[in-house]
Amino acid sequence: MTTIAFIGLGHMGRPMAANLARAGFTVRGFDLVPELCEAAREAGIEIADSAADAAATADIVITMLPAGSHVLAAYAGGAAPGLLAAARPNTLFLDCSTIAVDEARSAAGLAVAAGHRALDAPVSGGVVGAEKGTLAFMVGGEAADFAAARPALDAMGGRIVHCGGAGLGQAAKVCNNMILGVTQIAVAEAFVLGERLGLSHQALFDVASNASGQCWALTTNCPVPGPVPTSPANNDYQPGFAGALMAKDLGLAEQMIALTGVHAELGLLAQQRYADYASGPGAQQDFSGIINTIRAESGE
Ligand code: NAD
Repeated sequence: MTTIAFIGLGHMGRPMAANLARAGFTVRGFDLVPELCEAAREAGIEIADSAADAAATADIVITMLPAGSHVLAAYAGGAAPGLLAAARPNTLFLDCSTIAVDEARSAAGLAVAAGHRALDAPVSGGVVGAEKGTLAFMVGGEAADFAAARPALDAMGGRIVHCGGAGLGQAAKVCNNMILGVTQIAVAEAFVLGERLGLSHQALFDVASNASGQCWALTTNCPVPGPVPTSPANNDYQPGFAGALMAKDLGLAEQMIALTGVHAELGLLAQQRYADYASGPGAQQDFSGIINTIRAESGE
């Protein structure tokens, strides 16, 4: 039976680890926060004494950490022993955190240099997807390693796409979320313009959701209450996908735009808009709440 070390038992990591345990994997988890370890134990996850202790007996080491610096530090070690040194030779490292493409390539390079295998496998679908085991995985790395990780990915996810070599899972995630940030703002601007012109929310929705304006930001995450009863707008913009996370992901897009020199004006504008949004209460609200910023800026 495959043994999995699961490092980072936060909002996403705990339900993902719980799904692996439910699917029959032996899961040994660890988080720096003792209360989170305790909550994970209650969810049926065995807790190791340290991250290195969990990695030492694992066939697969999964990391679900806040940012790239955490992943690189956990791999390499420092104050605490690193995961790469602690693991047995040829362990499969699967990083599910959202980090920059170049950081993902550095992490994979470190793992391979230490005699291991590595995949980047960021997710979309949020905490609800993590709980239901329906996350979308975007995976970068060797095909054979992807095949080896597949049973574990299937236990946590729904749609799973192998995007290419190291870093390309993160590339797919950053490109997708750049589309999402730009389209959510576009949909919000269109609703505010429609309001000013006397167009009802429902009428605009009925037209655009069946026409060329159709997109997820409209048909699932509609930024006004009413047309889509499950969208966060109906629940005072409780996330959903918090503004802080969109700001983080667009910050990674900005880094990749700078690295490549691509002329991505709308992506950079969306990054600025969401950085501002997340510097206030929007950090904790759904990112579709940016419609209220647009209304305020429009003189309401
Ligand atoms: P979180 O902050 O709730 O969890 C991260 C956990 O990592 C924390 O509990 C922290 O204590 C732990 N940690 C940090 N360094 C550690 C170390 N060295 N060893 C052990 N534990 C360590 O974050 P989250 O919401 O679970 O997100 C995790 C990742 O998933 C992020 O990269 C995020 O961008 C991405 N993501 C989140 C969502 C979401 O809806 N929350 C959706 C998609 C992707």
